[in-house]
Parts: sequence; C-alpha cells; structure tokens
Amino acid sequence: MSLPYTWKLPDPASALPLVFDSPHSGTDLPLDMQCVAPPKALMSACDAFIDELWSGALAHGAALLAAHFHRTYIDLNRSRYDIDPVLLDQPWPGKLETSEKSKAGMGLIRRLALPGVPMYDRKLSVAEVQARLQDYYIPYHETLRERLDVLHARFGKVWHIDCHSMKSVGNAMNIDAGAPRPDFVVSDRNGSSADPQFTSWIAQQVRELGYSVKINDPYKGAELVSAYAAPAQQRHSIQIEINRRLYMDEERFTPNAGFFDLQDKLTQLSARIAGYVRAGI
Ligand SMILES: [Zn+2]
Repeated sequence: MSLPYTWKLPDPASALPLVFDSPHSGTDLPLDMQCVAPPKALMSACDAFIDELWSGALAHGAALLAAHFHRTYIDLNRSRYDIDPVLLDQPWPGKLETSEKSKAGMGLIRRLALPGVPMYDRKLSVAEVQARLQDYYIPYHETLRERLDVLHARFGKVWHIDCHSMKSVGNAMNIDAGAPRPDFVVSDRNGSSADPQFTSWIAQQVRELGYSVKINDPYKGAELVSAYAAPAQQRHSIQIEINRRLYMDEERFTPNAGFFDLQDKLTQLSARIAGYVRAGI
C-alpha cells in the first residue's frame, strides 16, 4: 500500500531543525473502516486544511509532515494503548491504558463521531485495530521520530510544532463544552514538552500578529507533543490549535473569506519561528 502520510521537505541547504506535523488534516476514509456515522458527522473531528495553511513554513527551512487518513480511522494524537475495550469483540491481547478521552468516545479508535452519534453498529476485531496501528499509526510516528532524531543528531537541538484546529465552541464531548475559544491555543503540557520561554515567545508572536491566544487552556497538548519531547535534551514540542472560525465555514467545512489572510499570517509566524531556531543553533 502507499504511504499513509506525505512529507514536504525544505531545500537541504537551508533545512533547519524545525518540523511541523499535521496529524488530523487527512480526509481519506479507508474502505475497511465500515462505520455507520454519516460523513458530515465525521467532518468535525478533522482539522481540515491545516496542512495547507502551514505550507508556507517550507520556504523558511521547516519540514512538514501530514497524514492522509481521517482522524476517526485511528487517532495519531492518542497513545497507542488508549483503546476502549467496549469497541472490541474480544479482549485486547496487549497493554491497555484507557484514558478519559476514550471514555468520552474519542480515544485511539473513536466510539462516537459526535455526542450521541456512534461510529459503528458492530464490534471491531482485534485484528482490524492491530492493522490500523501497523499500517497507519506506527509508520507516521516512526517517520516523525526518525526525522526529529536525525535533526537532533545533526544540530544538537530540535523544535517540533504539532498543528491542529479547534471548533469555535466546544461540544459535549469536549472538556470546555459550550465555552467560546480564543483564536489560538499554544500548549506545552504545562511546561513539560518544551522550554516554557519558547512557548511564551510563540504566544507573543501570535499576539503581535493580531490574535487572541491562551497557553495550555483548555488544551495542554496530547500524545504527539509528549512522545518525542525532552526539553532538557533540547527537544522541544509545542502544540498550536487554531480556531476554525478564522478560516472555514464550520457548517459546510469549506474555506471562508479569512482563509488566505490566515495562511499569510501563518507564513509570517513560520518565518519568525525559523528565525528563533536559527538564532538558537
Ligand atoms: Zn487535531
């Protein structure tokens, strides 16, 4: 099968130890998914267009990794052990660490597309969940980890930006249900996935570009910023969530009039981040 992700790599001569990843912008629904949730219900799980919005980072020396497959097939931003046993037709044979996210219906394999909208009318087999891990989740994580390792070995430091979008108002499955969200949320798992000075510097740049921003609230960052981060070893991972009302019609899932302005601002933000990285190596 073809690779479940795409890398966009900068000119090697100007490549910086800077990697962006977009785990939730994919829209491919593999045929074996066999879910009953209607396509429209699946869409709000997807961080539509996020890879396109950040694509200007490439010209500033960053690499950009994007998943092709839909987040509801298997969620790259969950631990590989975060499986809800209720979904399965037999006991899971390996380690299980079922989290609050799974209990809310959005673990590694989602149980709910939206509040009250189940994903499946059947139990999943252990073999099909194992195949999703083996063919989609693990290749993405491995290629990201390898690139971060190679850059860290070459420069002694690496910076990783995990890119997402958020609904303008959380639904009943979200920890901030009903509350309006700021333009941006920048997260470092309360200072444990990146130098907090880098996090607050990014938040300041976002403010200077004219946006409201919160740090670690309501999102602290999840699997992708914790898996490969080690700030004491100069491996920094930050999550950036962007409010969808800035760039898309949240009902129709189409770009709105703000799309190109936001894309331009994110290219400016990427240039500033690249400058920070260049000054730090
Ligand atoms: Zn996301």
